[in-house]
Amino acid sequence: MDKAKFYGLTQPELEQYLVGRGKQKFRAQQLFRWIYGLRVVDPEQMTNLAKDFRRELPLLFDFSLPAIVKEWVSDDGTKKFLFDMGQGRSVEAVLIPSQDRLTLCVSTEVGCNMACQFCYTGKQKLLRRLEVWEVVGQFVQVSDRLEPGSRITNVVFMGMGEPLDNPEAVFRAVEIWHNPWGYNFSLKKVTVSTSGLVPQIPLVTASGTRLAVSLNAATDEIRDQIMPINRKWPLAELLEACRQHARESKDKVTLEYVLLRGLNDSVEDARRLFHLTKNVPCKINIIPFNEHPDSGFGRPAESTVDEFQKELMRLGAHVLRRKTMGRDIYAACGQLTTAYKNHPQQTQI
Ligand code: SAH
Ligand code: SF4
Repeated sequence: MDKAKFYGLTQPELEQYLVGRGKQKFRAQQLFRWIYGLRVVDPEQMTNLAKDFRRELPLLFDFSLPAIVKEWVSDDGTKKFLFDMGQGRSVEAVLIPSQDRLTLCVSTEVGCNMACQFCYTGKQKLLRRLEVWEVVGQFVQVSDRLEPGSRITNVVFMGMGEPLDNPEAVFRAVEIWHNPWGYNFSLKKVTVSTSGLVPQIPLVTASGTRLAVSLNAATDEIRDQIMPINRKWPLAELLEACRQHARESKDKVTLEYVLLRGLNDSVEDARRLFHLTKNVPCKINIIPFNEHPDSGFGRPAESTVDEFQKELMRLGAHVLRRKTMGRDIYAACGQLTTAYKNHPQQTQI
């Protein structure tokens, strides 16, 4: 019989699996406590489990985690981890320290089919969606490597891939991190960022996590051009879905806006953005474009970014400028490039 991937099972799934093999249901909770809560992975040390059951664990479960094959550290403290996903494929997770936070940015897919014109990941078509254990495993692996006393405080689904194109794995992973016997990680510390898969947005609401939407344009004309998904679900529908999420979750939506030189970065664009979003409970996160080779897009001058931000503030928007972190190790937003840089064979698939 096939072994189950331990890190891919939620507690109810683990219970069902164990009961199906003649084991007691409450063992699931105990295993969550040992494996996630205490990070004890050696069955011999799981002292409240019967000896026979301990011996059986390696036969019942595959405890493997996605392997970290490379690690980079930036001058600003950002760390990037390269995970082997088999068959020469890889994804990245980025750990971003800031004053009182340690944010882990995780990937959900190898490549991405959304084809946003400015995004490096989007240049590579979707190769495959990650499985639950591979999403869960990014957190577990990075967390295991932290200095004693330090812990991940926030998770953002802003790595490679479109999380709402892989919602089964994403929301199961969140449920596993959230399990009270395990990491007990708060749902409100998890943010799911989407390019705008409108029909899936209620899944974010139902999960209890926070929503971020990559808006990146204030008119359908520009958005159609840089984010093809807009042709399917244009701004009006997307913002209505945001309003509904805000209403039901009583939480603000983060609207991400990548500033692209000469395309969406004028003071006039700032005004349009304000009027478009003024009825959405939101904060606007402006992100100056991180340049990468052959993108065809440019990063605006600092003064342009300033004026854009000031205009939004003057109008009364809640706006933050996202600091670019990890640029020297290609770990900044949209710069997750290993598929091309280090693994050229991937592009042949
Ligand atoms: N697929 C999801 C999450 C991953 S992308 C999404 O699109 O929301 C995370 C963020 O990085 C998005 O807001 C995207 O617009 C932004 N981004 C992509 N490429 C970028 C680049 N080169 N510079 C700055 N931000 C970029
Ligand atoms: Fe995919 Fe997000 Fe990049 Fe768009 S911005 S191509 S949705 S990863």
